[in-house]
Amino acid sequence: DYVLKQHDILQRDEASIDFNDRGYHFGDGIYEVVRTYNGTPFALEEHLDRFYESAKKLDMDLAISRETLISLINQLISKNQLKTGIVYLQVTRGVQDRNHLYSREISPVLTGYVASLDRKHEVMQNGIDLWLTKDVRWLRCDIKTINLLGNIMAKREAADQDCHEAIMHRDGTVTEGSSSNLFLIKDETLYTHPATNLILNGITRQVVIKLAKQAGLNVVEEAFPIDVLAIADEAFITSTTMEITPVRSIKGDVDASIHVGPLTKKLQEAFNNLIS
Ligand code: PMP
Repeated sequence: DYVLKQHDILQRDEASIDFNDRGYHFGDGIYEVVRTYNGTPFALEEHLDRFYESAKKLDMDLAISRETLISLINQLISKNQLKTGIVYLQVTRGVQDRNHLYSREISPVLTGYVASLDRKHEVMQNGIDLWLTKDVRWLRCDIKTINLLGNIMAKREAADQDCHEAIMHRDGTVTEGSSSNLFLIKDETLYTHPATNLILNGITRQVVIKLAKQAGLNVVEEAFPIDVLAIADEAFITSTTMEITPVRSIKGDVDASIHVGPLTKKLQEAFNNLIS
């Protein structure tokens, strides 16, 4: 099991993290999760774009070129003989005696690892149950920070209600899932929250919007109220690990029973073609 630490691929037990890492103290860092299919990273360029953008938004300099990063990712995949799985990448601001005020003199700490992860065929076919709850997160959800307390609290709440994923709303306006984006379909039109500061602009979200437009569907990137969930023809979530996963019910702040429908299946087929 090999991991990435700075510019080196090391055995996991050779690598260590400093107690004074700002990621550990403050969640002061960013990350990406990239899917691999048969050893090839999917949408790597888009993930790297977002990685550098997240860093910039937090006044962090990743201090590594794109070419070097791509080379390290590929080494990590091949050293681990990873086939279908994920690459996790993280950069924290660096190591400093605990102080809210960050120094600009410290160097970022890059770490990464891989994990095998099969595609979720069963749920992608049958759908999942969602738990709708309040979005209590901060106002920069567009940054992919490792600080995910709002997300993990919502996810636990959903699991405690026997739901697979939490969907969140701000004052009755649906934002996104705890680790996914939400789409709904009404009258052959796809609706999803626009890529503002209130959601993470998912790479899978961006891919699906492109595929939907290519398939001749209308795509409306507009925020919608929670009551609309109850009258949706179809709904699905998207993420790197869940791909396009249909929704079969929503509980919590609304009650909706939804069929896994033909347009979701059509988009799943288009997605399958893209990754094969
Ligand atoms: N929103 C949030 C809050 C997430 O954590 C994720 C997955 N990390 C997504 C959306 C989906 O993004 P992606 O398609 O890039 O995995």
